[in-house]
Amino acid sequence: MICRTCNHIVPDGVLACPACSERASLQAFLEMQRALLPRFLSGEYPLTLGRANNSVHAHIQLIGESKHAWCGAPMNHSQRWQRIFEELDRTISLCAKCRAAIHKMAAEVTPKEVA
Ligand SMILES: [Zn+2]
Ligand SMILES: [Zn+2]
Repeated sequence: MICRTCNHIVPDGVLACPACSERASLQAFLEMQRALLPRFLSGEYPLTLGRANNSVHAHIQLIGESKHAWCGAPMNHSQRWQRIFEELDRTISLCAKCRAAIHKMAAEVTPKEVA
């Protein structure tokens, strides 16, 4: 069967198109990051930083998802540490993609949400 929405091939016996389901869950996941971000911006909770596999840079772990960084890199479980949002700018070795991704979303958060 071919999905009418995205034209991906849907395997026999599968009810929902895997590509569409993945996109929908990614969207829901990004909305969750957005909803929780004000609490991290206020310093109420620290962000978890860590190393991705084979990377010298520190990456920012996604909120509520321990396996990936904001840039999409898979996170290495052995090296983790926590920093509040303010400290990110002082973390020199921070992955540029993670930094850009979280700042892009943080720019959408209004000061009212953080307070
Ligand atoms: Zn589809
Ligand atoms: Zn990264």
